[in-house]
Amino acid sequence: MTQTLEAPKVKVDRKWQLWIGGKFQDGASERTLINPADGKPLCKVAEADKKQTEAAIKAARKAFDEGPWPRMTALERAQFLFKLADKIDEHAEELAELETLNGGKPLREAKYDMGDAANCFRYYAGLVTKPTGQAIDVPAPSITTVVREPIGVCAQIIPWNYPLLMGAWKLAPALAAGNCCILKPSEYTPLTAVRLAEILQELELPEGVVNIVLGDGPTVGNTLAESKLVDKVAFTGSVRTGKAVAAAALGNLKKVTLELGGKSPMVVFSDFDVDTAVDYALFAIYCNSGQVCSAGSRLLVEEPMYDKFVKKFVERAKHIKVGPGMDPETEMGPLVNETQMKRVLEYIEIGQKEGAKLEAGGDQPKGEKYGKGFYVNPTVFTNVKQDMRIVQEEIFGPVVVVQKFKTEEEAIQFANDSDFGLAGAVFSNDVTRAHRVVKALKAGITWVNAYHNTYNECPWGGYKQSGWGRELGTFGLEAYTEVKQININLDPQPVGWFEKK
Ligand code: NAD
Repeated sequence: MTQTLEAPKVKVDRKWQLWIGGKFQDGASERTLINPADGKPLCKVAEADKKQTEAAIKAARKAFDEGPWPRMTALERAQFLFKLADKIDEHAEELAELETLNGGKPLREAKYDMGDAANCFRYYAGLVTKPTGQAIDVPAPSITTVVREPIGVCAQIIPWNYPLLMGAWKLAPALAAGNCCILKPSEYTPLTAVRLAEILQELELPEGVVNIVLGDGPTVGNTLAESKLVDKVAFTGSVRTGKAVAAAALGNLKKVTLELGGKSPMVVFSDFDVDTAVDYALFAIYCNSGQVCSAGSRLLVEEPMYDKFVKKFVERAKHIKVGPGMDPETEMGPLVNETQMKRVLEYIEIGQKEGAKLEAGGDQPKGEKYGKGFYVNPTVFTNVKQDMRIVQEEIFGPVVVVQKFKTEEEAIQFANDSDFGLAGAVFSNDVTRAHRVVKALKAGITWVNAYHNTYNECPWGGYKQSGWGRELGTFGLEAYTEVKQININLDPQPVGWFEKK
């Protein structure tokens, strides 16, 4: 076998511990992580039990109620976050390698994510020092100011598809606003969260301001979601778990934000260049092996272009280079774990049973370089109907359905016929039509003649069952604050409401 893999420079054979109250500690148990590229054990990591999770919550509570972080000026917190962003840049290569070894994505994608994560901290460091309050001229000799204050202790539960980036989306606004946090990475991809803890310690973040608790959902995640000492839970993951988190959070009516799944449409009109549309469509679905909440997993193509589009799309999908993320030649890596791989293969079977036509993929690549890794080839289905499960359910893998539409109205109807409403795109050179269609999409993130561009500056989140609330942009900071009105009487006189005795 020709050895094309870049040897990882990063050391994974080391201790991966919990970080609670500013101290690293072993977990109550250990989990062996598997490298998705070859199916072999990668390393062991600590996992917390309920007691350790509660200790992390108490540490965050103490840090918020008594510690310096919420009492610092916004500028002081911003300065810390700028330093953190620089450290992430400094360690970007190493962090990217960890994400590739741990989650499977091609190194070029992981590198991109690290830059994005650093810039997310920079964005909120900059934003938090800008004035945001209101001063209102109320009647009577009073003045009212409206200020934003941190919510308190925030539990943050994240998935495995963008481990450090999802952590940054949650920690950056929360910390900028003065909150104290407990971050729970996915049990499958905790490595960069531990490295982040080490960086935060090196930068001397006051103890307990951030706690990193590794472990599974039912133990760690649920303890966080239901704790009465937690003021907010921010969750990113599947709809099913999101509903469980929201239910667990009811006990003390803590604030809840949910970033959930999607089944996002990409609508292509025939006036657009077919090759460019095909290129975007490949990027929309196969980036990160389709494990992207906003993936363009439904391609809606106008009838006159449909046949040409499908031919070209299938041809190019078949040529995507699937392989280990550490191989510089690789364009699409494995899925994150065996469960996810089996789930995707099961959906492919369902699609065939439902009567859809398999145009490409549907199988796993064969050869020595794939070892026992969790690969699925880029898969394309045509001849689908709206009520098929492969059209309605989130597969979260490299599987796309291509549908034909005849009119603009039909395109909009297909596009919105979903329980989800995370993202969507329209491709057309007709500016009025592009505007009409994009406005008609029931989705929180939309593009015209583009797909996947995501900005720290712009709100992220979905309509319908794709979630509650928004992350990123000014909306993301607001989601980590309470709003308080302060009424100041400029001429205190007796009220005289009750008669004097
Ligand atoms: P998941 O719901 O299985 O897990 C997400 C997190 O929740 C993990 O940390 C997990 O340990 C934890 N968890 C599991 N059970 C829990 C419980 N009972 N209580 C509390 N926490 C629990 O999701 P996943 O498989 O890790 O990620 C894939 C899903 O995430 C997809 O549906 C995808 O669309 C979604 N996602 C959404 C966005 C977005 O911004 N909208 C971004 C990335 C991923």
